[in-house]
Amino acid sequence: MDMLHLDNPSAASEWCVLQREQGRSLGFVATMGALHSGHMSLVRRAAAENDLVAVSVFVNPLQFNDPGDLDSYPRQLEGDCALVAGAGGSMLFTGSLEEFFPGKLAQDGGLEASAMVDPGSGAEGLEGEFRPGHFAGVATIVKRLFEVTQPTRAYFGLKDFQQCLVVRDLAFAQGKPEVVLCPTVREQDGLALSSRNLLLSDEWRAEAPRIQQALRATRALWQQGQREASILRACLVEGLADSALEVEYAAVRDSLNWTRDEPEGSLVQAVGLVAAKAGEVRLIDNLLLHMDGGVDSV
Ligand code: AMP
Repeated sequence: MDMLHLDNPSAASEWCVLQREQGRSLGFVATMGALHSGHMSLVRRAAAENDLVAVSVFVNPLQFNDPGDLDSYPRQLEGDCALVAGAGGSMLFTGSLEEFFPGKLAQDGGLEASAMVDPGSGAEGLEGEFRPGHFAGVATIVKRLFEVTQPTRAYFGLKDFQQCLVVRDLAFAQGKPEVVLCPTVREQDGLALSSRNLLLSDEWRAEAPRIQQALRATRALWQQGQREASILRACLVEGLADSALEVEYAAVRDSLNWTRDEPEGSLVQAVGLVAAKAGEVRLIDNLLLHMDGGVDSV
């Protein structure tokens, strides 16, 4: 079946609602485009578990706290359409901020404060601290995308760990949709696939796998029986100490019971999280320390 490309949210909404009315299950994948195999793993999983799959491509200005980052974010819609079609997507849609939130734009081009959604406790600390406003932007657009698409299931990548917490809480509060969290897809050398990797120079591309190496060394310490967040974190920090990357945070949290600050006492499950700048490019990654090998799950 050919993939449908719709260029505004109202047309997308009409199509999605019609499919649901006709009794079809709908998987939904939200993206900002410049799609890669990580995104495609979500689309393929959605296609395997639903009758139809809708994909949004929208570089959401509300979640960028750095205007330079927004400007330089890669955009390649034609290639994205081909990839989604190849992975079993049924419909891809785009739209402008104005089209997603008609009549709710503020003077500065952003959104009226009253239209912003509270991202909840998963937004506290780490990404939430280093990217003020980011998760409010995420929660606001994801809530809107859920309204537009009314999906049976929505698929998100664990690469953005705190985003998964925010989206899961949002869906829980609304009672729908079912949120499916998917493992991080990586390059051979461990670097998590990211649209921003396209912006890395050869030198920074060579340095970037240090993040995953440090996370794996920390997981090895967990596997030896270490359960104290402070000691695990020290290992993570040490693993990045001689790297040229500019580390924003290297932290350990309880992956089930999220806290803004480092948890005390012996952990039963844990996640190591890193944000670091490779030159101008900000990279994030994480690893569930209690999971053996490649399987990621909260
Ligand atoms: P983005 O386009 O960066 O907003 O990502 C769209 C979705 O793809 C989010 O749910 C991400 O977590 C997910 N995603 C991004 N990179 C990866 C990856 N390397 N592996 C799996 N999922 C990913």
